[in-house]
Amino acid sequence: MERMEILLEKAIQIHEKEPKLAQRYVELARHIGMKARVRIPRKYRRLICRSCKQFIHPGCTLRVRVKSGGVKHITFTCLRCGQIVRVPVEKRRVDRAASSSKQRTQSF
Ligand SMILES: [Zn+2]
Repeated sequence: MERMEILLEKAIQIHEKEPKLAQRYVELARHIGMKARVRIPRKYRRLICRSCKQFIHPGCTLRVRVKSGGVKHITFTCLRCGQIVRVPVEKRRVDRAASSSKQRTQSF
């Protein structure tokens, strides 16, 4: 499990100089994850495109845009395959002020 993280960390470090090697590390990490039936940790999951399974990194092969207005969300665009993933920005949990009291109105 830790080997997977080491590989992904290495991929992040070298992807600018050695994008092919970084991709290899990502593939290895995915293989390890599949064999061990371990999911890739959350913080690394966004480094792998859901569509093309390639290593993606902000500023390199990933475009990150924050859209505000209405519902805030972040769009991740994979520059390899064009896959767009929209992630809504979590709002701070606000206690529901509106009580769900059903009022039965009887009209006579
Ligand atoms: Zn992609």
